[in-house]
Amino acid sequence: MTIDHTYHMTPEEFRRWGHEIIDWIADYRQRVEEYPVLSQVKPGDIRAALPPHPPQQGESMAAVLRDVDEIIMPGVTHWQSPNFFAYFPSNSSEPAILGDLLSSGIGIQGMLWATSPAATELETHVLDWLAEMLGLPGQFMSTSTGGGVVQDSASSATLTALLAARERTTGYRSNEAGVNNVDDVGRLVVYASTQAHSSIEKAARMAGIGSQNLRKIEVDETLAMRPDALAAQIERDLADGLTPAFVCANVGSTSTNAMDPVRAIGEICRDHDIWLHVDAAMSGSAAICPEFRFIHDGLELADSYCMNPHKWLFTTFDFDAFYVKDRGALIRALSILPEYLRNQATESGAVIDYRDWQIPLGRRFRALKLWLVIRHYGVEGLQHHVREHVVLAQNFRAWVEASNDFELAAPAPLNLVCFRHTGGDDVNQAIMDTLNASGRLYLTHTKVDDKLTLRMSIGQMYTQRRHVEAAWQAIQDAAGSTL
Ligand SMILES: *Cc1c(COP(=O)(O)O)cnc(C)c1O
Repeated sequence: MTIDHTYHMTPEEFRRWGHEIIDWIADYRQRVEEYPVLSQVKPGDIRAALPPHPPQQGESMAAVLRDVDEIIMPGVTHWQSPNFFAYFPSNSSEPAILGDLLSSGIGIQGMLWATSPAATELETHVLDWLAEMLGLPGQFMSTSTGGGVVQDSASSATLTALLAARERTTGYRSNEAGVNNVDDVGRLVVYASTQAHSSIEKAARMAGIGSQNLRKIEVDETLAMRPDALAAQIERDLADGLTPAFVCANVGSTSTNAMDPVRAIGEICRDHDIWLHVDAAMSGSAAICPEFRFIHDGLELADSYCMNPHKWLFTTFDFDAFYVKDRGALIRALSILPEYLRNQATESGAVIDYRDWQIPLGRRFRALKLWLVIRHYGVEGLQHHVREHVVLAQNFRAWVEASNDFELAAPAPLNLVCFRHTGGDDVNQAIMDTLNASGRLYLTHTKVDDKLTLRMSIGQMYTQRRHVEAAWQAIQDAAGSTL
């Protein structure tokens, strides 16, 4: 029996172009340092180079790859460059790429255990491995009452956690008793620090709670949430007849890497029966090194937790590891079983159906990429690189502290250094614009105390000491030329 390949790519063509594309990727990654980090195209440039209409007849892969080189690559910002210091790392390591390729090649839909048992079981297993690697409290292991699930992003994890919290707080009545609980939901209140990621506000809006019932809690001089301010706000809301429902603590805020005190916040949440979600999207990866696990102090008080292997842990986007303490709460909030999805394994209750742990129904076989990463690097290899990034960032911090022209703008506990030139916002803006236009490196900014602040985020997998040294030199040169 042979497959009819009319219009399809034949196995021989697939093999040939598959090999070519792997070669292309390997070459790109060897040369990635040579590209200007930030794409220099202008809005509309890429579309103007593309044909206005789709091809009526199929084209050769050779023609496609030529266009990748000539049209697409100039419009790429090189996140895999060792001179990428903007936003946060978005590492895509070779084992993760291969895992993603395997996932595409196998091409399954993992919505139910029954639709591909290996996808579900590998995911449960790898997330238990990861929990062990990060030293997470036992409640998040699948062998207890909780467990992990892969989400596409921390934003989805936060929304999912908030939906579970909303339903738990309102007694699951809208799902299970068909009660209209709009009034109850309208009284729920969500809390996060003024430094929290914008995904919290987005989640509050999407969950029907609304921005007006999101309280942005004041921070202390390290930009961490003040537990006393949280407690006071909760008391005010209770006095107003509202229902505190959800606190999101940031372990490593995106803007400045501020660390909210999870233990103190967790005790307040426990006393008031409020769902505590800990968002460690960026910094959670540090916990694979025992010496950085202080960031998780008090995590046993949390109801849910997430971190992004797709940032600092070498696993190609999209991969957020989301853990809950009580999987029942999540499933009661999100489970829905239409007739066409009924099956014996589900009815038996002996399996996990991850569609009940997330917003979409369908899901990719994403566990493969983290599995390949962990098996390739081993815990030791991952620890080595994370440690190295922290050392490089701490060196950079020391250079800033020793400098006459620059100052630290926030504590730099791990791999993000927020700093600024003492000459004011215009000078800092000019430094950043000069550097980013030069292509030598890419830096982004934030505001701290209303002052424009540069962020040096060190975590790209190829970044070495020489890149950080060259960056510091370039920053000083840029300062010299703008003054
Ligand atoms: C990056 C980041 C997010 C958003 O991550 P996505 O996975 O892109 O949704 C949320 N919270 C924190 C603390 C982050 O660092």
